[in-house]
Amino acid sequence: MRGKVYLVGAGPGDPELLTLKAARLLASADVVLHDALVSDGVLAMISPAAEIINVGKRAGRKLLTQDEINSLLVSYGRTRSTVVRLKGGDPSVFGRAGEEIEALRNGGIKYEIVPGVSAALGAAASAGISLTDRRVASQILLTTFSRGIDGSMMDWGCVTSTTTLVLYMPGADYAEVSERLLQGGLPADLPCVIVSRATGSQQQVRWSSVAALASEEKLPAPALLIVGRVASHDVAELSASFWGTNRKDPGSEHASVI
Ligand code: SAH
Repeated sequence: MRGKVYLVGAGPGDPELLTLKAARLLASADVVLHDALVSDGVLAMISPAAEIINVGKRAGRKLLTQDEINSLLVSYGRTRSTVVRLKGGDPSVFGRAGEEIEALRNGGIKYEIVPGVSAALGAAASAGISLTDRRVASQILLTTFSRGIDGSMMDWGCVTSTTTLVLYMPGADYAEVSERLLQGGLPADLPCVIVSRATGSQQQVRWSSVAALASEEKLPAPALLIVGRVASHDVAELSASFWGTNRKDPGSEHASVI
């Protein structure tokens, strides 16, 4: 029997943020392979008849390697009819979907991506801010400092006064994150907000600034950082001149993202 593998976004936590399609697939799946980030509320929506496999990685403690996950997906795709690969947020945002898609293509397995609410959007909702508030922002950059060996250099040149920067996987060392943002030329008093466990019952929101971030108490994972003039409840007061007068010239010292 040849089945189909669905790469499904589980959203940031609140099960009510699942798409109808994701909910339908969870209720009819033969097997579900999920990440550690998927919330208990979402896992509870999986059919009781389905086989559930936690392939999750959390804080460096790997349960399965990416290659093992890829092989499992291909072999289940050959033997089961509805296979759900359930990922936190959206599968295509820092979700390693690329490697899984490649493995499925090479294995001749049919697949479909079912998008989910990425953590950036969940965090903005939790903080009650608009990522593209037209008064101060015109673009959103989803990025991370935590890339593997194939890490790409972050082009700080593309970060302007109207960029909202969303930093996934900021890690535990806020002082280092703060330092890298400063090295990238961001103004020390540019607002930022840390959102932990966005959209879940234990969500926490901490308002800060690029410099003050260094001494903020660490919030529980998963957490992300939104940096930019939208990350404030006083957006209107952060006029366009703010950036120009505060920005340091990053010069040749471009921080790399590795
Ligand atoms: N595919 C996911 C991202 C996976 S990378 C998505 O689209 O959201 C994992 C990172 O996502 C975490 O380290 C954290 O930075 C962020 N994240 C995921 N869920 C989150 C949540 N509920 N609250 C805050 N950040 C979250």
